[in-house]
Amino acid sequence: MKQLFTTLLLLLVLNGYSQNSIIGFYSENTNKQLQLEKSFEEKLNATNLDEWMQKMAAEPHWVGTKFGEENAKWIKSQFESWGYDTKIETYQILFPYPTERVLELTGPTQYKAKLTAVPVEGDPFTAQGDALLPSYNAFSTDGDVEAELVFVNYGIPKDYEELEKLGISVKGKIVIAKYQGSWRGIKPKLAAEKGAIGCIIYSDPEDDGYGQGDVYPKGAYKNKTGVQRGSVMDMPTYPGDVLTPGYAATKDAKRLDRKDAPTITKIPVLPISYEDALPLLSALDGTVAPESWRGGLPITYHIGPGPATVHLKLTFDWKLVPAHNVIATLKGTEFPDQWVMRGNHHDAWVHGANDPISGLVALMEEARAIGELAKKGQKPKRTLVFCAWDAEEPGLIGSTEWVEDHKKELQEKVVAYINTDGNGRGFLGAGGSHSLQAMVSEVAGTIVDPQTNVSVKDRRIAANIVNGGDDSFNLYALGSGSDYTPFIQHAGIAALNLGFGGENGGGEYHTIYDTYPHYKRFKDPEFAYGVALANTAGLITLRLANADVIPLNFSQWHSTISNYLTEIIDETESMRKEVLKHNKMVSLKSYKLAADPTKKVKTPTKEYLIPYVDFSPLQNELVILNETISEFEKINTTSLSKKSLEELNKRLMKAEQMLTSEKGLPRRPWFKHQIYAPGFYTGYGVKTLPGVREAIEQKNWIEAQEQIKILTNTFKNFNTYIKDITNDLK
Ligand SMILES: [Zn+2]
Repeated sequence: MKQLFTTLLLLLVLNGYSQNSIIGFYSENTNKQLQLEKSFEEKLNATNLDEWMQKMAAEPHWVGTKFGEENAKWIKSQFESWGYDTKIETYQILFPYPTERVLELTGPTQYKAKLTAVPVEGDPFTAQGDALLPSYNAFSTDGDVEAELVFVNYGIPKDYEELEKLGISVKGKIVIAKYQGSWRGIKPKLAAEKGAIGCIIYSDPEDDGYGQGDVYPKGAYKNKTGVQRGSVMDMPTYPGDVLTPGYAATKDAKRLDRKDAPTITKIPVLPISYEDALPLLSALDGTVAPESWRGGLPITYHIGPGPATVHLKLTFDWKLVPAHNVIATLKGTEFPDQWVMRGNHHDAWVHGANDPISGLVALMEEARAIGELAKKGQKPKRTLVFCAWDAEEPGLIGSTEWVEDHKKELQEKVVAYINTDGNGRGFLGAGGSHSLQAMVSEVAGTIVDPQTNVSVKDRRIAANIVNGGDDSFNLYALGSGSDYTPFIQHAGIAALNLGFGGENGGGEYHTIYDTYPHYKRFKDPEFAYGVALANTAGLITLRLANADVIPLNFSQWHSTISNYLTEIIDETESMRKEVLKHNKMVSLKSYKLAADPTKKVKTPTKEYLIPYVDFSPLQNELVILNETISEFEKINTTSLSKKSLEELNKRLMKAEQMLTSEKGLPRRPWFKHQIYAPGFYTGYGVKTLPGVREAIEQKNWIEAQEQIKILTNTFKNFNTYIKDITNDLK
């Protein structure tokens, strides 16, 4: 009998069905938690997600619209019916609405851009005419400019290096750049730095049009008239309301003068379709674009400048509009002052079925299921706070103002913030604080993938391996692009960003085609991945809410951070080799002799040598930190008194804050986190150990040494923090 039992148990273990421990839970509480999770999962219902999406994506609902406000009120009433204490917190934010948009080719031929996407058959939402928000880039400055046109590929730093080699300047010109390759806001920022006076961004069909698949309505991709809206506010400097940096945009807040707001672009910028881009690009002549720059249009891509000249005129109505954040609270039974936060935005550019409603309906379904369990007496130990943010699209404004408003309290009370946004069919993507990696990995191992019946973790790992990655489940590092930014990068609160995707490709992002019919056909027809997201985020929320010991793992954190440092050291070495090789080729006149003598190409000159950088303070501190972490992890938390356990949790909650510095990053003090930041020249793209990494990338060697000192101090403080906890518990 005993042997049979052992065999059975072994089989169960092999099948992955047995789980006798959960990170952060004492064994006596594990079963109760697993039971709760099972009841939670059973309550999740895809029909709710479907119905709620139809309701909230019925009309356009950008910040300041009537329908947006109605959505906020309806979300509030839903949360109330599920037993949450709910309120709407409103801020008055600057939001530009386009009143005049003119783009015309003035020479050598004439063309007036249409700037309008067409309605398509089978999708009545695309036929709402004037109710649809005109296509534009929010926080472009007003402007009226006319100049020769220059094609700059994606308009990112390496494209300007290429132009420099070709001897082409954009000074006094209007640039046209392809979307993608970086976050859009980088394009006008760099163009202005290089002296351009206007910027046009277009969607090349190669990137998300017919080069990828059939176009809407036949397929999911961008038809010739589709235009991606989006913010170009300089978010890597600070996100949120442009007039109230670092403090809340309350009714009576002191506001900057608009002309002094540093995050509004310096030059006018407008997004257009490939139908409107084609006549402009066709009218360019001069140097033929390098092969890697060419897109999917049936033309020879020229760089210019000219002879095409364009006229761009943009005027906006700059007014304050109300941004309504919905905040719903379910009070914890044992630790009401420890909050687990969950958020997703509710505003969209147009209907936003995918972005953001697909994530929001998953969040709401989690909240409903948890609310039902609470009504039956299964309340969370810690307080849950569910948030539906407004004004995410123009620049993470709703969440940023709220975090700035409540920063002190949040730093005292929040255990972690879990963010979601658009969601679709495919693989689990999870990013965030690496101290949470072990816990997220454990949860991902228990969620069943709706299509393959393996765990979403196994499916993720399989995709990693196939794409040349390693066979482990890792969190990606957070840059920016959704509402986690104010939590982690400004307030130093541990954060996660979760979503499924990879099999839901399309060109609808921020266009009038991101509608319910499009979502149902191409994204997640049965809302199976919506339920999987609710399940994943819900379990993470419930574990953080009920864990005996807050489930952080610092050894995985340490190995990730060590890898980032190794990366920077290796990159510095390869920069050194590159410069040596380059200078040798200059000496040997190789560039000159290898070039086509009939073509005008600037012969490069020698570059400054890369100095040796002393990384040893960081390396040494990481060795010490490793020791400290292993001592900490030896503590047997099960034998702690109730009081010491409470003390331990209070201190663990604040561990992430030890990784920030009050002074923030160079030239952008709003960004306080020393491990993760959006890149100054990449936008959404992350830079890890950003102070040091960006100084080296910009070849600012004095700043690199300063930043190494600052980061070493951050590690030292973190070390002392963990060491003190360990000593006090011994
Ligand atoms: Zn979004």
